[in-house]
Amino acid sequence: MARDSGLPYGCGVRAAQEAIVILGSGMSGGVAARTLREEGYDGRLVLIGHEPTPPFGRPPLSKTYLRGEETLSGWLVNQDGWYDSNHVDRVTATATRIEIQGHRVELSSGRPVPYGKLLIATGGENRHLDIPGADLRGVFQLRTVADCDAIKKAAHRGARALVVGMGFIGSEVAASLTQMGLAVTGVLPGASPLESVLGPEMGELMAGIHHDAGVELMTGDEVVRFEGAKRVERATTRKGRRLTCDLAVVAVGIRPTIDVLQDTGVEVDNGVLVDAMCRTNVPGVFAAGDVANHLHPLFGRIRVEHYNNAEKQGAAAARSMLGSDAAYGYVHTFWSDQYEHKLEYVGHVRKWDRFIVRGSPKDRKIVGFYLTDGGLRAAVGLDRGGDPELDEQDELAAASRLIAKRARPDPAALADETVDLQGL
Ligand SMILES: Cc1cc2nc3c(=O)[nH]c(=O)nc-3n(C[C@H](O)[C@H](O)[C@H](O)COP(=O)(O)OP(=O)(O)OC[C@H]3O[C@@H](n4cnc5c(N)ncnc54)[C@H](O)[C@@H]3O)c2cc1C
Repeated sequence: MARDSGLPYGCGVRAAQEAIVILGSGMSGGVAARTLREEGYDGRLVLIGHEPTPPFGRPPLSKTYLRGEETLSGWLVNQDGWYDSNHVDRVTATATRIEIQGHRVELSSGRPVPYGKLLIATGGENRHLDIPGADLRGVFQLRTVADCDAIKKAAHRGARALVVGMGFIGSEVAASLTQMGLAVTGVLPGASPLESVLGPEMGELMAGIHHDAGVELMTGDEVVRFEGAKRVERATTRKGRRLTCDLAVVAVGIRPTIDVLQDTGVEVDNGVLVDAMCRTNVPGVFAAGDVANHLHPLFGRIRVEHYNNAEKQGAAAARSMLGSDAAYGYVHTFWSDQYEHKLEYVGHVRKWDRFIVRGSPKDRKIVGFYLTDGGLRAAVGLDRGGDPELDEQDELAAASRLIAKRARPDPAALADETVDLQGL
């Protein structure tokens, strides 16, 4: 049962000293709790989070749940009743401070929660636009169920919606609102949606998909002001465009939630710095998920803001907390659904020098390979290649194995449809 009730969170001093506390009850925190129990940890286990919802996957918030096609029940990390039957104390509260010397997390009520080991799984929070009118009614953000419900309420068929930022969340929201019958305009600083992550070739394909669906894209521009009497009615852009709208969704990225770590000595730099075992510089304190800037055996230091990482790193951190010294070397994957199209991605790369295409850009069915100095670092599939997690024969699963091997495949073979990637 969710609660923020009396001390002690433990049956005695010893239990409290040995307790594992998970701060943040999102995907990572929920999976960590489950893994700890599955791996046989039977001590005190406390899961603290300030959202009223139990740990769940956020992907449907920009897709099926937003469009009213699905409830969240299939996305719960652990089913109703699991927390009680597994003696996990789910505490709905905000943690305001961590006292490292005293081994305590302090809640906003002032109540301390003692820990023996602590997992930081505080995820990320939306970046806000610091511009006039950003707090007008009708200007939304999207991270939580409450955010999504508010957008849903405002998103009437025929309404004009402005989406600010066309990264993954912005692109998915633009697609969903279009499918819901709204007229959507996207404003983005770059030349095309997702260009900064996937490159200009993929960006152009995604722009074409949005264009064909009726989304108007204002590229190379940014919103500098929202205006309206009681709620948002229009936005002005840096290029001087005036865009009328009934609602706006601001999707300009997230920042890792690290405020609670101030003055703790836990090292932060674009998130919580952890090693390959999810350990911070402070003994007994670990981190996982969107907040964790981890040292990856293949990719170096990276922070990943995707579901599969949150899930797998939550589990890895839990095992590390129980003494495992296995490095977390997951070859990262993520997906995005927009309209009837599916993007799948494996690996990780920020800068590449070659992008090799297999398939037909005209038909919008391709696998793209990102190479750096001849080494395959990442691959993306647009409506081609299934879930690399589920199908070992899949092209992206083959790419994932090549990435893990630090392979330097022949670019011509990558591009050639007749060459079986499994054989490379
Ligand atoms: C709308 C949306 C759609 C997405 N779709 C996809 C997708 O299609 N594919 C994909 O790969 N990824 C997707 N993602 C990304 C994915 O959801 C995240 O990577 C994942 O949620 C990260 O999980 P987490 O547990 O690390 O962090 P979070 O989900 O952010 O959870 C952290 C929790 O900690 C709580 N918390 C933080 N600080 C405190 C505190 N001081 N006290 C108490 N509680 C605190 C927060 O309230 C939150 O509940 C999507 C994200 C969003 C928002």
